[in-house]
Amino acid sequence: MHLPITGGCGCGAVRFEVTAPFLSAGYCHCTRCQRRSGTAASANARAERGSVRILQGEENLRVWLPEGGREKIFCVRCGSALFSRDPGSAEYTGVRLGAVDGDPGIRPESRAYVAYAARWEPIPDDGLPRYPEARPGYAEGR
Ligand SMILES: [Zn+2]
Ligand SMILES: [Zn+2]
Repeated sequence: MHLPITGGCGCGAVRFEVTAPFLSAGYCHCTRCQRRSGTAASANARAERGSVRILQGEENLRVWLPEGGREKIFCVRCGSALFSRDPGSAEYTGVRLGAVDGDPGIRPESRAYVAYAARWEPIPDDGLPRYPEARPGYAEGR
């Protein structure tokens, strides 16, 4: 894998890099991820603390903080979902895999919150472990 990993939003206003390999990745089937992404599941990677750097367009970042959840960061110009982080933290520790250029160097390894999976799309039979709620010890998407 080539470092840094790079990525950006759909309109190109926001560009970022990740300077360390992702720690883990997974699909999140929670209702919040369905709403914010418009899809049945969201692929998210967990980034090492301090490894995500905004290269341009930081002024376009906005935050949605759902009650009891993590901060969800998106581009205000195009709506692209980009990151998540713990409330009050300055560090982006969740990265939406769809925002990454090319190969992120990791593959989703689990499916979380499948108890809330969209009714209109079967969960793919891909052999990945499924968790009705959060994957124990992980919070990439939530
Ligand atoms: Zn944008
Ligand atoms: Zn989620």
